[in-house]
Amino acid sequence: MILVLLGAPGAGKGTQAKFLSEKLNLMHISTGDILRDELKKGTELGKKASQYMQKGELVPDEIIVEMIKNIMSDPKSQNSKNGFLMDGFPRTLNQAQKFDEMLLSLNLGINKVVNIDVKKEELIKRLSSRRVCHSCNNICSLNDQKNGGLIEEGKCPVCGGQLYQRKDDEERVIMQRLEVYETQTRPLIDYYAEKGVLVNIDGMGSEEKIAERIVSTL
Ligand code: AMP
Repeated sequence: MILVLLGAPGAGKGTQAKFLSEKLNLMHISTGDILRDELKKGTELGKKASQYMQKGELVPDEIIVEMIKNIMSDPKSQNSKNGFLMDGFPRTLNQAQKFDEMLLSLNLGINKVVNIDVKKEELIKRLSSRRVCHSCNNICSLNDQKNGGLIEEGKCPVCGGQLYQRKDDEERVIMQRLEVYETQTRPLIDYYAEKGVLVNIDGMGSEEKIAERIVSTL
């Protein structure tokens, strides 16, 4: 199964991807996480990508498409799970077309594209209060009431690790990322609707409610 999660930054793709990939035994491919890992490891790819990421711009298509090609054509990836869950890829029409070609050559096709829809004001609120754990990559929010004050103290409620704010979650960069989403990524909604694989999901409400909505469409 090939599942694609679409949505603006802050729509909740990462959170839902973690849940869905476990539930459906899919390999979770987050291009943002891969690039951040590369940067942590200090690779050339990571350094190159970070120049774009810090400004809220997209990393060039050739780099991203090559990265995905390598993962998907690796027999280990193909055999290990029931399929792939794409989180943050594709993000441009060119990437979507290249992805279709790649899947065709592997005798695969997209089963569903889930578009998580959230209003702009809510996206800004979520992104500016988002914190990520250095140790376990857990995503949490300063607005989360159920954490006994841990998040405000900078501690991960799951593993106790140190929380940090992503550089691109700073206000100035958030606005640029939302602009990039509007111009480069939103057109994918029509692209996949025309192919008959798109479902729209209301992304407002609790994580559990949104997960339920997604699962009910699969
Ligand atoms: P994310 O964690 O998905 O919000 O991605 C963080 C940043 O990584 C984005 O703002 C881009 O700079 C870069 N990035 C992630 N996925 C892609 C992609 N498919 N195409 C281009 N850039 C990407």
